[in-house]
Amino acid sequence: MKTVDSINFSNKRAVIRVDFNVPLNEKFEVTDTTRIRAAIPTLKKILKDGGSIVLMSHLGRPKNGAENKFSLKHIVGEVSKQLGTAVQFADDCISDEAFAKSSALKNGEVLLLENLRFYKEEEKGNEDFAQKLSKHGNVYVNDAFGTAHRAHASTAVMAKFFGAEAKCFGYVMAGEVASINKVLNEAQKPFTAIVGGAKVSDKILIIEQLMNKADNILIGGGMAFTFVKAMGGHIGKSLCEEDRLETAKELLNKAKAKGVNLYIPTDAVIADNFANDANKKESAINAIPDGWLGLDIGAQSAKQFGEVIKNSKTILWNGPMGVFEMSSFENGTKQAAFDIAEATKNGAYTLIGGGDSVAAINKYNLADKVSYVSTGGGALLEYIENGTLPGVQAIES
Ligand code: AMP
Repeated sequence: MKTVDSINFSNKRAVIRVDFNVPLNEKFEVTDTTRIRAAIPTLKKILKDGGSIVLMSHLGRPKNGAENKFSLKHIVGEVSKQLGTAVQFADDCISDEAFAKSSALKNGEVLLLENLRFYKEEEKGNEDFAQKLSKHGNVYVNDAFGTAHRAHASTAVMAKFFGAEAKCFGYVMAGEVASINKVLNEAQKPFTAIVGGAKVSDKILIIEQLMNKADNILIGGGMAFTFVKAMGGHIGKSLCEEDRLETAKELLNKAKAKGVNLYIPTDAVIADNFANDANKKESAINAIPDGWLGLDIGAQSAKQFGEVIKNSKTILWNGPMGVFEMSSFENGTKQAAFDIAEATKNGAYTLIGGGDSVAAINKYNLADKVSYVSTGGGALLEYIENGTLPGVQAIES
């Protein structure tokens, strides 16, 4: 994979797609700087070489053109603080003024362009728009893993306006792709995938792909109940996708045919209400009384999953084991997080990806006790499903 290390940026102007889609509070202050901090090493490498930088990003989901609450001007101060260098701002990404600013940049200087999504052409992958953006620099760098699964103008289409020697990946992209490859293509066995979260329908493709790679697949979260019902169990009013019962059966059969151990929880923490203070008790997962619903895996399943996790050499975790946002139903997720940290300590390679498992690993302060925490939920899942991403292909082709 060609990274910024393979280019000397001296006297070059790099136009970089970063993922600065950060949360802002009502005072427009950045409340989580993770994504900005992640981009800094790539930017520093380019500045150290003696180049200049034009930064492009989206922020939020603006519907109809410019909107103050989605303006990237709010984050200029934070980017400048994290980078330790003044950052200029252009209040439109393709205006004459924006081009005047980018072409006047001296080596060592940095310009941030206004939100790309103020133009609908960005998400449509419009070629003219992409070509205009490409005029901001003479080297194109993609470091926005979080949007690399979209074939947008700035994330994929604009790569075609640069020669092979003038486009590359930043360190965020390179780190993410190396980490997925380590799990999917270089996994030490046993390889265990832990898949949880609310819906089976979101995870069918990923489970199917993982069956070609993993030795064990642990199913948790709301999606487990569709499997339990498909096997003839009684699940009360637990989350269930009736139209996916057949799919669940097929997945169970496929796993058997492929010799993959597909673990479905055997017990659950059930509640009489979807609330933290609901009445709760443990139950066999296939004998949940009417009027009750399963909101976490039970103690026996958490223990069984833990044994599999701790015996694994490679682990991928996507999706919580229960409604971990509520303390009454967090135990299965918490236990999995600590077991994964222990496996990591004992030499396993562990990749955590997908919004809610990342939120969980952060909740238990274990981010630095696992091998890699992915910054891109949707992008990670699509990479696993398809083996590549539009933003990766655009630079490699
Ligand atoms: P996903 O975005 O599909 O990974 O789903 C994550 C969400 O699933 C979290 O907000 C969890 O609270 C929720 N979840 C996990 N287990 C259950 C469950 N047993 N019933 C309902 N929701 C659940």
